Amino acid sequence: MNKNIYELLGLAVALSFILALKGLSAPKTARRGNLIGAAGATLATVVVFFAPLGEGKSHHNTILIIAAIAIGVLVGVPAARKIQMTQMPQLVALFNGVGGGAAALVATAEYLNLGDGASTAEVVATVFTVIVGCTSFSGSVVTFLKLQELMTTRPVVFPGGRFVIAATLAGVLGTGGWTISSGGNTPLLVMGGLALLFGVLFVLPVGGADVPIVISLLNAFTGLTVAASGYVLQSTLLIVAGTLVGASGTILTRKMAEAMGRSLFGTLFGAFTAKPQVATGEAEARSVKSGSPDDVAILLNYAQRVVIVPGFGLAVAQAQHTVRELADMLAAKGIDVAYGIHPVAGRMPGHMNVLLAEANVPYEQLVEMDEVNPTFPQTDVVLVVGANDVVNPAAKTTPGCPIYGMPILDVSEAGNVIFLKRSMRPGFAGIENELLYDAKTTLLFGDAKDSLTKVVNALKAL
Ligand code: NDP
Repeated sequence: MNKNIYELLGLAVALSFILALKGLSAPKTARRGNLIGAAGATLATVVVFFAPLGEGKSHHNTILIIAAIAIGVLVGVPAARKIQMTQMPQLVALFNGVGGGAAALVATAEYLNLGDGASTAEVVATVFTVIVGCTSFSGSVVTFLKLQELMTTRPVVFPGGRFVIAATLAGVLGTGGWTISSGGNTPLLVMGGLALLFGVLFVLPVGGADVPIVISLLNAFTGLTVAASGYVLQSTLLIVAGTLVGASGTILTRKMAEAMGRSLFGTLFGAFTAKPQVATGEAEARSVKSGSPDDVAILLNYAQRVVIVPGFGLAVAQAQHTVRELADMLAAKGIDVAYGIHPVAGRMPGHMNVLLAEANVPYEQLVEMDEVNPTFPQTDVVLVVGANDVVNPAAKTTPGCPIYGMPILDVSEAGNVIFLKRSMRPGFAGIENELLYDAKTTLLFGDAKDSLTKVVNALKAL
């Protein structure tokens, strides 16, 4: 392909990625943004087969590359189609990790190809790519295991853990320096192995509630890895795409940490300074006030203002349509109804907004945390539908607990609090919620969709 046409197509791809990011920044344009980004990625995958390579050079292993793409499509497409919305963060973690791992492998292959001909700048870029790519890969696998609850979601710490992490990091950097100075293959391999170990050690101490921040951070890492491998491969497109992912991932990480009232350092290493927690389950013998759907319907019927707080359980129960039906019924009775949206409710940023938009809940009824919090003292009933951590007062009262410092929805300020949940099990962070035992709290046990349907029927009968 003519070099100028190739460069122009590359520019079109880079533009499409920028337009995709712009589109993704608002719910109305997100679908279009996603399509533009996907079209750009497809174009990039195709044009690279026609890249001009210069005199006497030709493309190799085309069949193998096409076979690898076919395998990726066969695995990736069904996985993405089958996945439940509640499992999306795990999928993102896995895809992200695979991206980092792939960039590290590609850079290693190019490094071996270049052999003694590699310039110092190329070796430095390779070392960076392998370190960050391997860390991102193994770290992402651990975040996947945590989110899929295939391992504990609580912080995993062991005596001397921070020294082991520091020693591993020192080993990674030391072997990195050794690779740059000697240009050999063995130090590069040892460095890759240590970086894989570092990725695991780095994510283990992160508690469940903070895992999304780490996924976003690893995503930014992967972007930087891809940009660096673009330098090694002399691909402008990889540099542009990687830089965009690195920059947007960094901004997202900061925003998420801010929403959770955390510093990044506290998120990553807070577990080492945390105080031991009261074991969950200890308080299960304490009594709680549970009610029937009729009790809940009566409380709602006589309220003047109701705030619905959706959480992860709403997504699990797929109760978004039923909750809207209930909200519409209350509004028709002249009751002031709003939804209180916490920035990290559910399992991904914007999860509740997407879910409620699916049920056509009017956007103006969704009230962000900072706006809804001052209204709780004037609220008669808060209906907490499958949320727990985002309303847990421990975030304010229990220093050292995994969510300490995270801003919460102050639902305890309202007249009555109703929790719709199935059991006394804690939320994602695995910590007890004192509010469940509060005198103003009523628990309606059961699947959120079933419970809401029963409440709707009871309201109709009133
Ligand atoms: P939580 O995980 O704290 O609580 C969910 C609650 O829903 C549980 O109490 C559970 O109780 C209940 N539940 C589950 N299934 C059902 C069902 N079918 N019917 C009724 N209730 C149900 O969720 P929150 O939304 O309050 O908090 C989100 C947590 O996830 C935070 O810790 C956040 O940090 C973390 N996180 C957030 C991400 C994001 O970006 N939004 C990403 C990843 C993690 P029971 O089992 O008894 O029913």
